[in-house]
Amino acid sequence: MSKEKILIIGCSRTMDTACVGCSRCMVGFNRRAGEFERYEEEAELTAILGCGDCPGCAIVPRMAQMKLWNAPMGEVPTKVHIAPCIAVHCPHKDTLIKKIKAKAGVEVIIGTHPYMPENIYAS
Ligand code: SF4
Repeated sequence: MSKEKILIIGCSRTMDTACVGCSRCMVGFNRRAGEFERYEEEAELTAILGCGDCPGCAIVPRMAQMKLWNAPMGEVPTKVHIAPCIAVHCPHKDTLIKKIKAKAGVEVIIGTHPYMPENIYAS
């Protein structure tokens, strides 16, 4: 089986701001925890991409740009994960997820890390 290349899509207003350093997604991936449990050790985290801000209109061009940017390196994502900052907290999540699924061209998985302590990740 070829090596999986993971793209995480998150909320531009939350990433590295409320969720400092996007660390929980990265740690979750490194530990193959939560929705990353499915991956072999060889899998790689290729990118963490912000949605492009509310109301999520920029996500499609951003995904296209990401693909073009990475293509010369041969680093086109094979799986897309929607981070909890979108999947749980985004008021535009239904539209955003629908657009991502329509344009990804690869499997889209809802969720990333399992670290959701109630009083830390408050919306
Ligand atoms: S559209 Fe949703 S995911 Fe994107 S910045 Fe706004 S709240 Fe965050």
